Amino acid sequence: MPAPAWGPRAEAAYWSPSPVHGYRVWRVQSRALTGARRPWRAPAMTAVCLRTGATAGVPHWNGECGAPGCGIYARRELRGIRGLRARASVPGTVAGLVSLSGTVVEHEHGYRAERSAVLAAGSLWGDRLVVGWSDAWLAALFADPVATLSGRGPMAQIEAPVTAGGRGVSMAILADRLEEIGADPSALGREG
Ligand SMILES: [Zn+2]
Repeated sequence: MPAPAWGPRAEAAYWSPSPVHGYRVWRVQSRALTGARRPWRAPAMTAVCLRTGATAGVPHWNGECGAPGCGIYARRELRGIRGLRARASVPGTVAGLVSLSGTVVEHEHGYRAERSAVLAAGSLWGDRLVVGWSDAWLAALFADPVATLSGRGPMAQIEAPVTAGGRGVSMAILADRLEEIGADPSALGREG
């Protein structure tokens, strides 16, 4: 998928003493969850500047590596993700809530971060709505998304049929659930 448009320029960069929450989507491609630029193999990710190869001082925010710059991208609101409903109609879209830490660059609609960890994720997989947030399920999801979303391996916390209203309605339910968790991550029963 194309790199997301995050607003014209960085508004601020800061070292965040507490995690910032954001939302992302991935595609299941080649049996991996793939972001705009590369596959993720685990729920936790540390940013690398793909243009300069740097790991220190990332994400850049003075234009060192061009616009919109490096870092792990997350959107402030899940519903603001462009084409989310349209993407939901394409099998293999996974949406997630992420915790961002280290250096975080704030943009109008989202963030670029040094580090991220997925707190919860879900997908409309076949005729099922699947949402999970246990460490074991998230680790399995990123290691083998097809098997995990198909229900082989650890159980997701929510597994329900796609509603009679169709995939658009079910994607709205998934978005609601992730945004509820994002508003109160303590509901997960683990550190947010
Ligand atoms: Zn960079």
